[in-house]
Amino acid sequence: MNVVSLESLDVKGKKVLLRCDLNVPIKEGVIKDDGRIRASLPTIKYLLGQGAAVIITAHLGRPKGERKPEFSLAPVAKRLEELLGNRVTFSPEIIGADVSNIQSGDVVLLENIRFEAAETSKDEAERLTLANVLASYADVFVSDGFGAVHRKHASVFDVAALLPHAAGYLVEAEVEVLTKLTDNPVRPYGVVLGGAKVSDKIGVISNLLDKVNVLAIGGGMLFTFLAAQGHEIGKSLVEVDLIPTVKELLERAEKLGVKLLLPSDIVVAPEFSIDATPTIVNADAIPADQMGLDIGPISAQAFAQAIRECHTVFWNGPMGVFEFPNFAHGTKVVAQALTQVEGLSVVGGGDSAAAVRALGFADSDFGYISTGGGASLEYLEGKELPGISALA
Ligand code: ADP
Ligand code: MG
Repeated sequence: MNVVSLESLDVKGKKVLLRCDLNVPIKEGVIKDDGRIRASLPTIKYLLGQGAAVIITAHLGRPKGERKPEFSLAPVAKRLEELLGNRVTFSPEIIGADVSNIQSGDVVLLENIRFEAAETSKDEAERLTLANVLASYADVFVSDGFGAVHRKHASVFDVAALLPHAAGYLVEAEVEVLTKLTDNPVRPYGVVLGGAKVSDKIGVISNLLDKVNVLAIGGGMLFTFLAAQGHEIGKSLVEVDLIPTVKELLERAEKLGVKLLLPSDIVVAPEFSIDATPTIVNADAIPADQMGLDIGPISAQAFAQAIRECHTVFWNGPMGVFEFPNFAHGTKVVAQALTQVEGLSVVGGGDSAAAVRALGFADSDFGYISTGGGASLEYLEGKELPGISALA
């Protein structure tokens, strides 16, 4: 992928519009994981070091074009200021933001860009109107919000056409790692997928089947696989309409000789709750009145062993409901195995990154923790990322 590098763009003393991914998990005003804010710092610091004035635009959650206070970036501005050690002015306005007097060394964070319906509009003209407003604030555009580069959004895609532009350090690093996963990965190459929905990941499974040696499936989506094999899955998550597609994938994996790992044991509970009583059952014996909330300990060990034998591993999606301690074991064992890979280990996905941090791992325990879930997956699916193509 060809992008203009940050250092080849003249930003000295300029006003820079910077797209960041500051989409962090926030509960009742408290930031639960500031990984994405930290990941934005190198580019901001570089720009400040060049004497630039920085106007940051970013999104939080899916407010769908409305000003919803729970999606305000105000708490993020505060945290960014602490981490950066530089004053950060928060602008509640997006259109009509007062940035005319911004000086070298100033940092302004604009309110959640998705409060503007035009940001995510399918109508190009609408998006362009917003992109023009953003472009009017600055001399150049730097794109560093990797988590959003798979979106044709005004602040990601359209604005790049209006100003001289470059990729920030985070986007550059993400692209470099993804390239290692797709161009001649060191083998054996293993992919571990979990999380809630098969429909989110079916494309990537299909595209990766030709490329991987090992594919391990956990999380809520494993039950659609078990259902496709004809097993009882009780009250577990399932996407019935995807069962035929999953059957095809299972057949293809067998033909291609891909080692497809599905759990042989499951941790079940009568309901989805933090204090539900866990029981371990065989994967083909899930009681009708129970739901699967984690992979079982035997499966976790089997996944871990397969992971440790690989030299390139990509993992996206928790193995179970790691937010509940009784159902975090599978995710923990898999995370541990990734830290032991001799080669490149990559963790992708917002919840997965938050999970490894919540479980006590350090970022440096892994080869790379990607900030972008959807963006990484779409790249691995072989799709074009509009926000990257726009930076050529
Ligand atoms: P990521 O953000 O890393 O891409 P996802 O968003 O796909 O991950 O999935 C994360 C969610 O999947 C977590 O909140 C976790 O609780 C949920 N999950 C994992 N296993 C199960 C399961 N067996 N049943 C229900 N939810 C699950
Ligand atoms: Mg997620």
